[in-house]
Amino acid sequence: MIRQKIREILEEIGNAELVTVTKSRSIEEIIEAIEAGARIIGENRVDEARKKYGMLKDCLKKYNVGYHFIGHLQSNKVNKAVGFFDLIQSVDSVKLAEKINKRAEELEIVQDILVQVNIGEEEQKYGVPPGEVSSFIGSLSGLGNIRIKGLMCIAPYSENPEDARPYFSRMKKIYRTFDFEYLSMGMTNDYRIALEEGSNMVRIGTAIFGERKY
Ligand SMILES: *Cc1c(COP(=O)(O)O)cnc(C)c1O
Repeated sequence: MIRQKIREILEEIGNAELVTVTKSRSIEEIIEAIEAGARIIGENRVDEARKKYGMLKDCLKKYNVGYHFIGHLQSNKVNKAVGFFDLIQSVDSVKLAEKINKRAEELEIVQDILVQVNIGEEEQKYGVPPGEVSSFIGSLSGLGNIRIKGLMCIAPYSENPEDARPYFSRMKKIYRTFDFEYLSMGMTNDYRIALEEGSNMVRIGTAIFGERKY
């Protein structure tokens, strides 16, 4: 089942990257996904991700799987996240970026990040307001130990995925004004629309593993 889903989605998304979202999933399920072709794993909690990593290490190494952080990063978890994740997709404040940079400097590494954009300008969501992305990125320019690889967003939820189209389209416009590698947008409900609007990285959990139990 998982195997089949991974294969279908990989074929469907073509050249875009698939981030297989494994929050709440078991080690067995994750290994099945990796053996079927998943090459990037996404987790949204630092402690859960680190715990699972311990059990997945051999498999991740064997298949050269990337490990991404996609959740809201609390500042007290920064030291456990920097250098651990290949890409932190959810940088949403200058303060957080500075903290990541400082830790990366201590570790003598460069941490890859994406800037999370609150494209729907929703109060309950994290992210930089769309009108402030340019100035936000400007204010990170002095931080030598982070590297901005692109932008990420979560579109406002709607039963009808078509409703997300204008948000994805606006993201693509913002993305075009920079020279970044990744535009991470699209989840189970709306990834097809996201791809049509120019996403090159989708983050999918439910469509692969079924409904989450928590
Ligand atoms: C959970 C999650 C996803 C995947 O959501 P599904 O609807 O299960 O595909 C994608 N992105 C983020 C940031 C998430 O937290």
